[in-house]
Amino acid sequence: MKIHEYQAKEILRKFNVAIPKGKVAFSADEAAQAAQEIGGEVWVVKAQIHAGGRGKGGGVKLARSIDEVRQLASQMLGMTLVTHQTGPEGKVVKRLLIEQGINIAKELYAGIVLDRSNSKNVIMVSTEGGVEIEKVAAESPEKILKVTVDPGIGLMPNMARKLAFGLGLEGDAHKSAVKFLTALYKAYESSDASLAEINPLVLTQEGSVIALDAKMNFDDSGLFRHPEILEMRDLDEESPLEVEASKSHLNYIKLDGNVGCMVNGAGLAMATMDIIKLSGGEPANFLDVGGGANVDTVSNGFRIILSDPNVKAILINIFGGIVRCDRVAQGVIDAAKRISVSLPVVVRLEGTNAKEGAELLQQSGLNFAVANGLKDAAEKVVAALRNQTAAN
Ligand code: GDP
Ligand code: MN
Repeated sequence: MKIHEYQAKEILRKFNVAIPKGKVAFSADEAAQAAQEIGGEVWVVKAQIHAGGRGKGGGVKLARSIDEVRQLASQMLGMTLVTHQTGPEGKVVKRLLIEQGINIAKELYAGIVLDRSNSKNVIMVSTEGGVEIEKVAAESPEKILKVTVDPGIGLMPNMARKLAFGLGLEGDAHKSAVKFLTALYKAYESSDASLAEINPLVLTQEGSVIALDAKMNFDDSGLFRHPEILEMRDLDEESPLEVEASKSHLNYIKLDGNVGCMVNGAGLAMATMDIIKLSGGEPANFLDVGGGANVDTVSNGFRIILSDPNVKAILINIFGGIVRCDRVAQGVIDAAKRISVSLPVVVRLEGTNAKEGAELLQQSGLNFAVANGLKDAAEKVVAALRNQTAAN
């Protein structure tokens, strides 16, 4: 799960990670009020969306008076912010973070991620902050210092010192960075985060380090332990179809293609997407309907696939292991009648009672193409797609 910058900073504050004074605002009035409460002479108005690159896109602006805060806030609220992470359609800004302005001496980088390949956490720091870290990694990887942390041992003081030296910091700034990184690791670990990224981590002109930006992602499987983090979920930032699917306990991920697919089992779903691509089609989604595919799951699956206007043909690929293919076929027939599916549907059934299932589909009087094997299924659905486009 992802959260907003201001929410990540709330979590960081609890763990004594240094952050600027700030407040969330949902209107221009609230923004002005927040600036008043924060005090000082310079404020930063920051668009809160679940994507980075806001600075370049016009979503981070400096204000030198309360009036300017109000003015920038009213411009930013409701605007569609396009960054390299939002895709060309952008994201509508509905919340702002109003922060005290910080006197920046240097922009650095600090990030913690879970390295799944060796079951350890990795802390990365770089003197090249404020820019895309992917770019630094590609062009000058020697400028990124990585330290691997065994979760059973935790971050040891010598590791934190090594990282602070890697940031080129000495004296009080070094001490401040050690304290910062130690607190950041604690926040990451205690909240079951899968990512905590501070870009930029700023060295202030006063000589301490502070998180100017903050991004945190969480392991969904750990969220039950953190109801206060789960409450931070912002459904406005998630794909509406994915939210809808999760309500029906379907594992759905929207993609850009036009072949909708409904499969039981995540591995089989991945293989199905691969073979659709190999046959010249583009999958519109990943959808794993799980082990017990019945009329309700298939109906919900159809409903969600059909809500995507890009979908022009559907491929259903079911392996009957525990679930019986004739039951699934009946589920597909009932569901197709229930929500009157008009697009071409190719069905491939394999496993227990596959033959009986195929017969049911053929006798249903509905427009199903029954496929023989996975390759045949993919070719049939791509052919159906081509006929569709030719007809239009
Ligand atoms: P991102 O572009 O979405 O990653 O948003 P950031 O929070 O990283 O902000 C982008 C840039 O805005 C930073 O790299 C800074 O250069 C600038 N910025 C943000 N806050 C302040 C501030 O308090 N003072 C100054 N001078 N610049 C800031
Ligand atoms: Mn940033």
